[in-house]
Amino acid sequence: MGSNSTLHAAILTSPGLGHIIPVIELGKRLIAANRNVTVTIFAMSSTSQAEYQTIKEATSTAKLNVVELPPVDISGLVHPKAAVVTCLAVWMREIRPVFRSALQDMASPPTMLIVDFFGTESLPIADELGIPKFVYVPCNAWFLALMTYSPTLDKEVEGEYVDRTEPLKIPGCRPVRPEEVADPMLDRTNQQYSEYIRFCGEIPLCDGIFLNTWEELQPTTLASFRDEKLLGGVIKMVPVYPIGPLTRAVRSRSGHPRVDQDLFEWLDKQPSESVLFVSLGSGGTLSYEQMTEMAWGLELSQQRFIWVVRPPTTKSDAAFFTSGNGDGDLSTYFPEGFLTRTSGIGLVVPLWAPQVDILGHPSVGGFITHCGWNSALESVTNGVQMIAWPLYAEQRLNATSLTEELGVAVRSEVPPWKKVVGREEIERMVRKIIVEKDGFKIKSRVKELKQSGEKALREGGSSYNALSQMVSKAMQDLQMKDQ
Ligand code: UDP
Repeated sequence: MGSNSTLHAAILTSPGLGHIIPVIELGKRLIAANRNVTVTIFAMSSTSQAEYQTIKEATSTAKLNVVELPPVDISGLVHPKAAVVTCLAVWMREIRPVFRSALQDMASPPTMLIVDFFGTESLPIADELGIPKFVYVPCNAWFLALMTYSPTLDKEVEGEYVDRTEPLKIPGCRPVRPEEVADPMLDRTNQQYSEYIRFCGEIPLCDGIFLNTWEELQPTTLASFRDEKLLGGVIKMVPVYPIGPLTRAVRSRSGHPRVDQDLFEWLDKQPSESVLFVSLGSGGTLSYEQMTEMAWGLELSQQRFIWVVRPPTTKSDAAFFTSGNGDGDLSTYFPEGFLTRTSGIGLVVPLWAPQVDILGHPSVGGFITHCGWNSALESVTNGVQMIAWPLYAEQRLNATSLTEELGVAVRSEVPPWKKVVGREEIERMVRKIIVEKDGFKIKSRVKELKQSGEKALREGGSSYNALSQMVSKAMQDLQMKDQ
């Protein structure tokens, strides 16, 4: 095969670690699928230390190149209090000229374009360059179903979705309760709703969709994408490739800074599966009142814990663009004496922690998670059961998947986005997951799914095959073009 038959994938990622991390993993996976694949990831210059660090670590791979695009100033284009999805959509629109010239300047021109779903407005650039175009949705299949069906719902449903009493029906899929809809669907008058409906309509306008899930995890929803009478009819039979679970590998000890080494040395001394990890993704924050209840709940449970703490705020996605930044002094936000009383059984980590490595440690036995899809998959692939604590984005939908569909999590009676969850209920949930029998049922289910995910990625597994077939087809198309 000549050098011009190298598949050179250009991938555009939107800001936010929930997208950057799975995009980097997709890049690595594409490279592993065929020795004639190289990948260049285009990411906007980052505002957060954690993003910067993640991008920096990825650049060390020979066939994987990361290009940082200069930041675009959107302050004149969006309201200072604009919602996260509005900012992401406008950023991805404004970055197009810079992205186009970066693609044109590449020493070896791209032969395939992949954008994450906030970047669908860049798909026409692939047509200009005469190359195939794909969308990466690093999410749950059920959320992709809701997204691709949302333009239809937009036409059919009147009034606010959240005011409905009946669930929203999606052909062939589990219905969505009104309160579970993704954030942009909560208020149809907000700019983020029109941006959302636009990119939902644009997602199927590509040659294939990559999805961070696997066949055996969500068989019914995935089958509905292939059925012309169900969602397949809506997305016009664009192939959907379930290629997950794509999560970062657990790092060796030597790769960690000193402060993390202390944390792992502490973990090493704890009994197997005895520690609860509490972390709310790259953006999640709690109110002052909820932080107090969480602290009391952890203390009353008398279980070991590691809690990644951010300053309290009333906005649940407050740290989304700045995760890992700040001076980290949080002692004033806890109930008096909490740190002293829990010293030895609990660790409080300011702002950011090496999540995958913690979840991969044998002493960890439970995870209070905001249910971001990456966090959920990281928990499943490390065999750790969860307490679902959804806050924003599509996390309410993910929480229902994890608790009702997959059976790997418990959740509070009143959801945390509606009301403060009290200390007694937190205490009960923690004990259920770490100590009691109920936890064991969930535990065996999560271990089953861990194995199923490993099998899907192994040679001959469903995700392995989906990606290899897609790469082989792309290589063949390329060779035909070259001839
Ligand atoms: N993460 C981490 N340390 C933290 C918080 C988050 O490494 O203290 C990582 C986490 O492992 C995951 C990503 O950030 O890979 C968050 O993605 P997710 O989809 O779970 O949620 P989002 O941040 O997009 O809401």
